[in-house]
Amino acid sequence: MDSFDTAREQLLVGGVPLTLLAERVGQTPFYAYDRGLIAARIAAVRHVLPPGVLLHYAIKANPMPALVGWVRPLVDGMDVASAGELKLALDAGADPQGIGFAGPGKRAAELRQAVAAGVLLHVESARELQLLADAAQDLGLPARVALRINPDFELRGAGMHMGGGAKPFGVDAEQAPGLLRAMHGGGLGFEGFHVYPGSQNLRAEVIAQSLSRSVDLVLRLAQHAPAPVRYVNLGGGWGIPYFPGERRLDLAPVADALAQAQARLRQELPQARLVVELGRYLVGEAGVYVVRVLDRKLSRGQVFLVTDGGMHQHLAASGNFGQVIRRNYPVAIGNRLQCAERETASVVGPLCTPLDLLADKSDLAVAQPGDLVVVFQSGAYGASASPQAFLGHPACVEVLV
Ligand SMILES: *Cc1c(COP(=O)(O)O)cnc(C)c1O
Repeated sequence: MDSFDTAREQLLVGGVPLTLLAERVGQTPFYAYDRGLIAARIAAVRHVLPPGVLLHYAIKANPMPALVGWVRPLVDGMDVASAGELKLALDAGADPQGIGFAGPGKRAAELRQAVAAGVLLHVESARELQLLADAAQDLGLPARVALRINPDFELRGAGMHMGGGAKPFGVDAEQAPGLLRAMHGGGLGFEGFHVYPGSQNLRAEVIAQSLSRSVDLVLRLAQHAPAPVRYVNLGGGWGIPYFPGERRLDLAPVADALAQAQARLRQELPQARLVVELGRYLVGEAGVYVVRVLDRKLSRGQVFLVTDGGMHQHLAASGNFGQVIRRNYPVAIGNRLQCAERETASVVGPLCTPLDLLADKSDLAVAQPGDLVVVFQSGAYGASASPQAFLGHPACVEVLV
């Protein structure tokens, strides 16, 4: 069991009933992450990963320090996308050897910090390569380099495309041989490749195909590599179901595709370690956003539950974090999960904008002021991906239970 059990009256988070948890937190709104569910999910992923494939956590999905600390010993490495996330990973005790730093616009100071820390830089442009060489020379330290490739294929069916076509991420596959040649000598220590085609993919066959095409690409580019390839990070992009009708990702075909990818790499690039980097798949289903009903309003026949939290703290649930069509995240009245008396109600926040909508005409237990609304699937891209300063309400709290 690695997602929440809703077959009881009160939701339990880490074994604590929701209303008691709200008292313990001392305020609403809050995010609560269940450490048992996170550990169970990571164990489930490890169970299907072929032996030898390394599992990294992408901190961007949820950078809460206690959570990063909890995840750290359960994975083989961390992927960071800023000097701030680098600090989080190091503070959590991550081994610099297993930290990868990606991102399309790294500042010179960040590159220098990363070289000083001894982490692997995912180089995404010629400019970055030059800055890295300068930093390495200046510090008298080698810069560990992987080249991030913008593939010459596109992932069809991913929620978010981050590779293929014209993209700001990585260097186009066509430009890679030139950059690889430029890595000879200097203080640059080439280690391998990073390919990240996209995020939030629920279709195993698409992920499998992308893995196979990424291996083709890596094997082609490896011919130009200035040193043996030791690191091949083929991303992840494993999605979680957010909306009605979405089916859970079937892991068995993904695991098969990884085993095939690994077998091909072993044959052609015997020193290469295959890395999978996952964010939301590890933590997204282990978190809830909890808000309290302040008011119950009836407007021309429609029920509105006005709560103390909203889009400023959970932009994604409001439908404003990259979604094309707004759909409801799964929501429930967390202290009345088995209540038979139900109604259609919309859950809104306190902001003076119609965008502040957590659930539009949802089927919910009849709720009163004081009740707790929970938004499920909120363990990733929640608090840190929301404009908390918008309208000047207090920041929300996050707890790991
Ligand atoms: C955002 C990102 C991830 C994590 O994506 P999830 O959908 O949370 O798994 C991993 N790798 C890179 C390079 C990313 O940009």
